[in-house]
Amino acid sequence: MNIWGFRCCHCDKPLAIASQGICSSCYRLLSQKPYCGCCGAALTHYQLGCGKCLRDEPKWHRIVQISEYKAPLAEWIHRFKYQQNYWLDRMLARLLLLAIRNAQREFQLKLPEVIIPVPLFWQRQWKRGFNQAELIAQPISEWLQIPLDTQSLQRTRATRPQQELTASERRNNLRKAFCYQPIKNYQRVALVDDVVTTGSTMNMICIELLKQGVKEIQVWTLARA
Ligand SMILES: [Zn+2]
Ligand SMILES: [Zn+2]
Repeated sequence: MNIWGFRCCHCDKPLAIASQGICSSCYRLLSQKPYCGCCGAALTHYQLGCGKCLRDEPKWHRIVQISEYKAPLAEWIHRFKYQQNYWLDRMLARLLLLAIRNAQREFQLKLPEVIIPVPLFWQRQWKRGFNQAELIAQPISEWLQIPLDTQSLQRTRATRPQQELTASERRNNLRKAFCYQPIKNYQRVALVDDVVTTGSTMNMICIELLKQGVKEIQVWTLARA
């Protein structure tokens, strides 16, 4: 009998450890390259800060990512988001957990007090039925025993994908799109999103958090596109 949980989500081979969701040879297909621990740019060594950060410094302080947005990771993320392959959430969350562990070694990353998934506007979430960032953040919160907070950060209106807009439309698109009213006075926060593309949405959220006294913002993402 083929129960999905006991087969690799990529090659469909039976798995020795069901909960992992992926076999070791497919895991090796992920091209996990060193990256900048601040902005996420691909580098030859793991380091904090790079030329790209100097030109265009992100508002967050640290980033953790599994790899670049390329196959097969890009394909898994796509299946997870658009084909409602819900069981992929734990597999992707587990890969992100390994990336967090790696960042603890490579960048001496200190774990945050709270994990906050990037919210969707309620209408969008209602249509989709779930918030993909929250699905990723939930198991990580359990595994690391760090509280998950889905209350403090809210999306107050719908926005359009930044990639579809011109520069001036982009600025208006995100204006006052997020509201941060923390239920506790957090100092170190991890924001979770499935993919970080231009980074402008994340920067906009960071501005709100910094205004409320957050000292360190980490971005945990499956992939930097
Ligand atoms: Zn496989
Ligand atoms: Zn950088």
